[in-house]
Amino acid sequence: MMRILFWIGLIVLIVFAVRSKLRAMAKRHGVPPDTARGPAAPSAQIEAMAQCAHCGMYFPASESVKADGLDYCSPGHVRLPPP
Ligand SMILES: [Zn+2]
Repeated sequence: MMRILFWIGLIVLIVFAVRSKLRAMAKRHGVPPDTARGPAAPSAQIEAMAQCAHCGMYFPASESVKADGLDYCSPGHVRLPPP
């Protein structure tokens, strides 16, 4: 009987530890715990991508180097002519 109580207590402790860990992870990402799970993730976390006008590589738009109305992946590719 004591062995069953021990295992039930251990399982409850593990469940509480996992739940608090998930809540801490959701808080770190700035998402309330209720919206953190499920396939309907907020679209605000998906960053827009840009394509380099020289090499054609895709990269986050926030890291783009803009010159003459075009996006480049690095300052070095701004100086190089298009292929
Ligand atoms: Zn490039």
